[in-house]
Amino acid sequence: MSTDPSSIPPVTLAPALLSELRAVVGPANLLTEDADRLAYGIDGTWVERLPQVVILPATEAEVAKIVKIAARVGIAITPRGNASGLSGGALPRAGIALALTRMNRIIEISRDDQVAVVEPGVITGELQRAVERIGLFYPPDPSSLSVSAIGGNIAENAGGARCLKYGVTGDYVMALRVVLPSGAVIRTGGRTVKNVTGYNLRALFVGSEGTLGIVTQATLRLLPKPRHTLTCAAHFMDIEAAAHATTAMLLSGIIPTTIELMDRTTIDCVEALLHLGLPNDTAALLLISVDGNHLDAVTDDLATLAEICQTTGATQVQRADTPEEAARLWQARRSVAPALARRRPNKLGEDIAVPRSQIPAMVRAVRAIAAEYQLLIPLYGHAGDGNLHPNILCDRRDAEEMTRVRGAAAAIFAAAVALGGTLSGEHGIGLLKKEFLESDLGPDQIALMPAIKATIDPTGIFNPGKIFPTGTAEWE
Ligand SMILES: Cc1cc2nc3c(=O)[nH]c(=O)nc-3n(C[C@H](O)[C@H](O)[C@H](O)COP(=O)(O)OP(=O)(O)OC[C@H]3O[C@@H](n4cnc5c(N)ncnc54)[C@H](O)[C@@H]3O)c2cc1C
Repeated sequence: MSTDPSSIPPVTLAPALLSELRAVVGPANLLTEDADRLAYGIDGTWVERLPQVVILPATEAEVAKIVKIAARVGIAITPRGNASGLSGGALPRAGIALALTRMNRIIEISRDDQVAVVEPGVITGELQRAVERIGLFYPPDPSSLSVSAIGGNIAENAGGARCLKYGVTGDYVMALRVVLPSGAVIRTGGRTVKNVTGYNLRALFVGSEGTLGIVTQATLRLLPKPRHTLTCAAHFMDIEAAAHATTAMLLSGIIPTTIELMDRTTIDCVEALLHLGLPNDTAALLLISVDGNHLDAVTDDLATLAEICQTTGATQVQRADTPEEAARLWQARRSVAPALARRRPNKLGEDIAVPRSQIPAMVRAVRAIAAEYQLLIPLYGHAGDGNLHPNILCDRRDAEEMTRVRGAAAAIFAAAVALGGTLSGEHGIGLLKKEFLESDLGPDQIALMPAIKATIDPTGIFNPGKIFPTGTAEWE
C-alpha cells in the first residue's frame, strides 16, 4: 500500500451502516478520514493495511453492539491496543479497526485478594506503577511497557525480561471478560486462586491475537513487591561464552530475575543513541538481576552469579551500586529497538525461543546465517529463557537485499525449530510469520486450530488473515 493520498481507496461502507455504528460510539469516536485510517493501519512492523473505518468504543456494551452490527452485515473487526505489536496482529484487513485505547480504567486494585481488575486499554507500565504504590507487583514487563496495553499483552501473551523468574502475561490472567464474534459477552476464570471449573477458556483467549474474542476486562494476579533488586553487567569477549555463562547460571540453583543479552552491534547502536558509556571492547554483555526480600541473600546470589560469569569467561563484572546505575543499564536494554532502528532504514525483528541448553547453538546458528546471507543481524534478548531477538537490519527499497532478508528469516526459524524451539516466544504470529506456522506445529495442529476458530467465529469476522497460513506471504 502506498501512502500517496491519491492511491487511498475510498470508504465503501454504506452510509446507513456508518450512521448505525456512529450512533453507538458518538460521532467523535468513528473516524473515516484518510489520515485516521492511515494512522490506525500501522503497528510496530513495517507493514501497512487500511481499515474502512476506525471505531473507538468506551465501554464493553459499546463493543458488544458494534460486534453485533458487524456480525449481521459480515464485516471484519480487528481489535487493537496501542499498536506496538511486532508480528502485524493489529493490522486491519479492511473492515473495522476497533481501537480499545479509551477503555483504559484501572477498575480496582485489591490488596486483600492481590488482584487488579483493568480495562484492556490500560498501559502496562501504568498498572505496574499503580500496584507498586501499595506494595504489590505485576511482574510481566515487555520492553514496550511504556506504550503497550494490557489487552494487547493478553492477546499476544507478552513476555519480558522478568519472565525468566516470574512467567509471562498468561500466568497472571485469572479472569477475562470477552466479547465473542456473536456479540455475546462471557466471563471466563475468576478471582479465586484455584479454579478448574469447566474448560480453561481463559487460556484459549490468552495469546489468541484477537482472532477469537475481544477482551474487555481482565482480572490480573499480583504478587507482593520484592524489597530488593540488584543488577550487574557481565562483559564477555565472545558471545558464545556469554551463552555458556547463561546456561551455567541457570544450573546454579539460583533463579535470577533477568539474564538479558546484548551483542556488540547492539551495544554500539545503543551507545550511539544514548552515550551511556557502555563498554567499547566487549563482544557481549549480560544484564543480570536478582530480587528478593532479604538484602544479604540477594547480595549473595548476585555475587554467586558474578563468580559463575567470571569462571565462564567474563572479563569484567560490574555491579550497579546505586539505583541510578541500575536504571542506566536498564535504559540501555530498553532502548535497543529505537537504537537499532537508527542503524539501517528498516529492521525485521525476530523472536525465536529455544530450550535453554540450546542457547549457545542458536547463537552460533544466527552468526552463521548472518555470514551466509551477508546481513547485519544484531542479537539481543531474554537469554535466560532462551527467547532471542535476532534483528535483521535492512533497507526495504533494495529488492535484492530483501530476498536475502527473507532467506535469513526462514533460516533462523528453521534453526530454532531444529533445536527444539519455536517461531515466537512472545510477539505472536500475526501476519509476518503465518506462512511458517506448519514448520513449527505440524499439519495436525494446523488443521485443529482453524477448526477451533470456526467454532467460535463461524463467519470469520475477528481479525481475519492472521496466524494461519493463507499461501501468501504478507511481508509488505
Ligand atoms: C520497542 C518494542 C519493544 C517490545 N518488547 C517486547 C517485549 O519485551 N516482550 C513482548 O512480549 N513484546 C514486546 N514488544 C511487542 C509488543 O509491545 C507486545 O506484543 C504487546 O503485547 C502489544 O501490545 P499492544 O497494546 O501494542 O497491542 P497491539 O499491537 O495493538 O495488538 C496486538 C495484538 O493484540 C490484539 N488485541 C489488542 N487488544 C485486544 C483486545 N482487547 N482483545 C483482543 N485482542 C486484542 C490485536 O488484534 C493484535 O493481534 C515490543 C514492541 C516494541 C515496539
